[in-house]
Amino acid sequence: MKKYGIAVLPGDGIGPEVVAECTKVLKALQGHIGGFELDLQHYDVGVSRFLKTGVAMSDSDFKACRDADGIILGAVGMPSPDLPMVVDKNGTEVSGHVMFRLRFDLDLFAGVRPIKLWPTVPSALAGHENIDIVLVRENTEGLFASYGGGIVLKDQLAADVQIITREGCEKVFDFAFKLAMNRKGRLGEGRLSDGKKVVTCAQKANVFRSFAFFKKVFGEVAQKYAGEVMEDYAFIDALTLWMLQTPEKFDVVVSENAHGDIISDMAAAFVGGMGMAPSGDIGLEFAMFQPAHGTGPTIAGKGIANPTATVLSGKMMLEWLSDKHNDPTLAAAAVLLDKAVYNTFAKGVKTSDIGGTASTSAWGDEVVAQLRALPV
Ligand code: ATP
Repeated sequence: MKKYGIAVLPGDGIGPEVVAECTKVLKALQGHIGGFELDLQHYDVGVSRFLKTGVAMSDSDFKACRDADGIILGAVGMPSPDLPMVVDKNGTEVSGHVMFRLRFDLDLFAGVRPIKLWPTVPSALAGHENIDIVLVRENTEGLFASYGGGIVLKDQLAADVQIITREGCEKVFDFAFKLAMNRKGRLGEGRLSDGKKVVTCAQKANVFRSFAFFKKVFGEVAQKYAGEVMEDYAFIDALTLWMLQTPEKFDVVVSENAHGDIISDMAAAFVGGMGMAPSGDIGLEFAMFQPAHGTGPTIAGKGIANPTATVLSGKMMLEWLSDKHNDPTLAAAAVLLDKAVYNTFAKGVKTSDIGGTASTSAWGDEVVAQLRALPV
């Protein structure tokens, strides 16, 4: 039986609540399917820890994450609405000490955010039922490369620099095209639902040289996949409009870091909100899986947070581990988990943010019941 070491970082606010449901479901899956073992080791990181100890993530906890086979993170940030934002000496949020350290130091260059609408879940886009897009956010460069840098001069001038490198572009574009090759293509209803595999490059090449370079390198990488995956381009401002009007036009969308940060929150509204948006921060060697949302300080401790995004992030981890270790049992576990989540929504069991009445743990319990009812 293959054993995988998983570093679990519940973090702050609703992080521990949603992570508890993810680990509950993963353990149930392991018991139901058999043939693999997840050794879940918990570590205390985040702003609450920073307030207690002055350090958001210790070096030994970082090392444990690097040594693990996979990482699950809840959320890092404001633990409660009563506290002011906790900032470091640069005036930026302490949460970056965990998230950016893991992303940058483990080179998790692809921020993968599936945007999929589940049955009975309300979308902010009326009349679009088949939404199934994957956003790939370049995760280690762009404007965010300035984190911890940037300048403020004499309290009169401030600057952050956007970094775009050929190597960073080639890695993330390759990732996006490979992802598109393994998908079924754009699926939605309407005249653009042609099943074509498409990667759209979001940028602002009409204004910035760095984005003109980003676009050029995309075109070069696209040549490797010509005939199999269509290359497509959109200026970031127009992209937001087109995604709202015709989400069916999109299959995989790749973008610079800050642009990806913004469009992924917008796209989460297409599928029920932040509680429905899973993510994977993936590199060539390491990967971390976390809901796309933050700490939800106003709903923390109430037992009402939606754990779907975190449970689906756990599913993404199973898929990634399966690919990396060539372990089909984990791929089968991910398929079973997908079915259990589908059946849970089809039955109408939902948390209050998406129009239901289930508590955080009641939703997790229903997923466990649904997966135990599925044949292995
Ligand atoms: P942070 O500042 O750490 O990003 P936040 O909660 O302010 O945290 P988001 O996570 O983007 O920012 O959340 C935006 C909104 O969505 C908030 O109203 C939040 O309460 C809500 N929300 C986020 N996650 C969930 C969830 N899992 N279940 C229900 N509502 C959520």
